[in-house]
Amino acid sequence: MNFLEERIVKEGIVKAGNVLKVDSFLNHQIDIDVYRQMGEEFKKRFEGKPINKILTIEASGIGIACAVATPFHVPLVSAKKSTRINIDGDVYTAEVESFTHKTKNQIIVSKKFLTPDDHILIIDDFLANGCALQGLISLVNQAGGTVEGIGIAIEKGFQIGGQIIRNMGYQLESLAIVEGMNDETGEVFFRENK
Ligand code: 5GP
Repeated sequence: MNFLEERIVKEGIVKAGNVLKVDSFLNHQIDIDVYRQMGEEFKKRFEGKPINKILTIEASGIGIACAVATPFHVPLVSAKKSTRINIDGDVYTAEVESFTHKTKNQIIVSKKFLTPDDHILIIDDFLANGCALQGLISLVNQAGGTVEGIGIAIEKGFQIGGQIIRNMGYQLESLAIVEGMNDETGEVFFRENK
């Protein structure tokens, strides 16, 4: 098991509805050492790619994306969520359905911060059905930029998102892939990882 899988086994809480809570170290209270290790691991896995920007989605992606932007020495752009339809011409927008809240949000990024010259690494905390990632990919495509890769902390491999994104041809790197979890025993099972 790698550092993240070990921490999930120790502190992750399996909730009904296929939700894994990792509030004690990943997205409520944050263990900076875990974030730093994740940043370094993504740097290794995307070595050699001409990445000049990190893209994530607020709120829980931002911290991890900061830890990734640090070893890459590149700026980080965070797509904003908005319940209002944005009709200004100065932003790119996509619709994303929230897995945890079951609501639909517009996500937006200013046209100033995504351009055809950008080579983007997309980062998020969880991958479930892939809706958030497809929204982020759409924003990069609208700008004419290039998605160089996608880094996820925890992929729930029993949900469809990972397969959809890999079938689209992207290099998707997940630091922990959960193959199954049991909300009665609290057990979490992982896919064999690098
Ligand atoms: P997707 O769009 O892939 O269905 O869901 C990804 C988004 O939903 C992530 O940005 C994450 O914030 C949230 N999410 C999905 N599954 C989980 C989960 O099991 N636990 C937590 N804490 N967040 C999740």
